Amino acid sequence: MFLLGTLSDEGSRELREHLNQGCEHCVARVKEAARTVYLLSLSARPVSPGPKAKADLLRLLLKK
Ligand SMILES: [Zn+2]
Repeated sequence: MFLLGTLSDEGSRELREHLNQGCEHCVARVKEAARTVYLLSLSARPVSPGPKAKADLLRLLLKK
């Protein structure tokens, strides 16, 4: 999970451990989020995802 490797707080660690347990529901969310981040990276502004982007990603992943 290269994408989640950029996340280092406690919440993302718990999420990684959860994903490592093979939860298909959350793995699907990660793939969707990764695609979203990729599309955002194609936007006009040449900026890398910052803390806010990571927070948004986590919120997306954890949304029920
Ligand atoms: Zn899950």
